Amino acid sequence: MSGEEKIFFQEAFDSNWIAPLGPQVDAFEREVADYVGINHTLALSSGTAALHLALEVLGVSSGDIVFCSDLTFVASANVIRYQNAKPIFIDCNMESWTMCPKALQKAMDQGQKPKAVIVTDLYGQSADYDAIYEICNAFQIPIISDAAEAFGADYKGKKCGGIGDLNILSFNGNKIITTSGGGMMLSQNKEWIQKARKLATQARENAVHYEHKMVGYNYRLSNLLAAVGRGQLKVLDDRVEKRRIIFQTYKNAFSNIDGIDFMPEADYGLSNRWLTVCTIDPGKLGLDRNKIIHAMEKENIECRPLWKPMHLQPLFSGEKLYTQAETPNSDKLFQNGLCLPSGTNLSEEEQEKIINIIFAQLA
Ligand SMILES: *Cc1c(COP(=O)(O)O)cnc(C)c1O
Repeated sequence: MSGEEKIFFQEAFDSNWIAPLGPQVDAFEREVADYVGINHTLALSSGTAALHLALEVLGVSSGDIVFCSDLTFVASANVIRYQNAKPIFIDCNMESWTMCPKALQKAMDQGQKPKAVIVTDLYGQSADYDAIYEICNAFQIPIISDAAEAFGADYKGKKCGGIGDLNILSFNGNKIITTSGGGMMLSQNKEWIQKARKLATQARENAVHYEHKMVGYNYRLSNLLAAVGRGQLKVLDDRVEKRRIIFQTYKNAFSNIDGIDFMPEADYGLSNRWLTVCTIDPGKLGLDRNKIIHAMEKENIECRPLWKPMHLQPLFSGEKLYTQAETPNSDKLFQNGLCLPSGTNLSEEEQEKIINIIFAQLA
């Protein structure tokens, strides 16, 4: 926390708006809209809720196909199952580790067209939206941008979370800024956001009594948590700067080591470097990624592999629906990929200790 949150939190308390609506929610929606540069926003209880409503708004239902980034967190894909729709996972490229436009084109040419494409801005790096739009526009297929990890990042000067036809952000505790739990849907399309707003409040009709014509959800963000979000928003740019410094410090430390490669930054944008991620080449280092994880564990430091690709998840094993880029990139990254401690509260001393532990393994 930055300290600013307390001021808004106190305001929320004093106003007695202890509910999933109120002035803090309205202000948070406006402020995020201004930051991202988009007209319409809807504060929700999680990023997953926002993804779910995005599919609802687009009318994705039983039997539909939805394309989805293969290398992502499971929430991106779970919502496809909520709708009883069928995911097809699209491989990443090695330049950005985000959805490979060539693999997307291949999937598009293969058969049944998807109802939507869910694109993840992985570890804070934007996907290549111009290339992806070109492919989707040819068939008028809407793009849902899963920018849960990329708040504060940009693509060609435009903020992530504002580039897709529908966009989602997450304010979960592990993200670059947090409301403890929360999310947002963002779009230039007013009707979509209106429809989502209704669905998020039990789909209550506009009547004095409780009138319902369709199934709804209880997905709104608490006024108290929106207050926390407003304080966090004030330090978002500082957090991006800090995370980028953490990344650069790791990168510099291992710049002479052949076999440790850091996630590249695509030239079209600025990553928020939510997590510092790298690959460990066992052939070159005589050391695999898991050995580093175990060495860290001994020092009570948490390191993890990258997200396990969706097409390798037992949850989706029956589907066998995966469109590979030239080489199976997501598999390769998963085998050797490592997330290093990257929290903005990481001190210089702590980071030095982590770097030294890795060097000790290399010796
Ligand atoms: C965190 C995350 C989500 C889900 O957000 P929640 O707010 O935790 O529901 C979705 N997609 C990606 C890529 C994420 O990292």
